[in-house]
Amino acid sequence: MEILQGEKSNQKVHVFENYMFLKSGGSADGHVVYYRCKESTCSATAKSTANGLRVILGTLPRHDPDLELLDKMRLKDELRRLARTTPQNFRKIYDEVCPRQVPFRILFSRFYRRVI
Ligand SMILES: [Zn+2]
Repeated sequence: MEILQGEKSNQKVHVFENYMFLKSGGSADGHVVYYRCKESTCSATAKSTANGLRVILGTLPRHDPDLELLDKMRLKDELRRLARTTPQNFRKIYDEVCPRQVPFRILFSRFYRRVI
């Protein structure tokens, strides 16, 4: 499972078949991890092995994956990773990595105010 940083700083989003899930719990023996859809109104669930390598969908999502949001989150993740691992100015990294069609102020409206 691909794991992305969620909108809240302590939130991890788990991606499976382009759907975004949040961890909702685990089995008592720690072998199984349970997830629910990131959309609070959706009842889709999934479970995985503890290492996240085998994933099984439970209740299926009744909506299309939000590919636009997923793209944005992947981009943010990449930017955060670069910001942590390179000495470059955050804005400069953004200019090099981001496609023009995603304006900085939209992608990082909250993050921007906090970091810079
Ligand atoms: Zn859903």
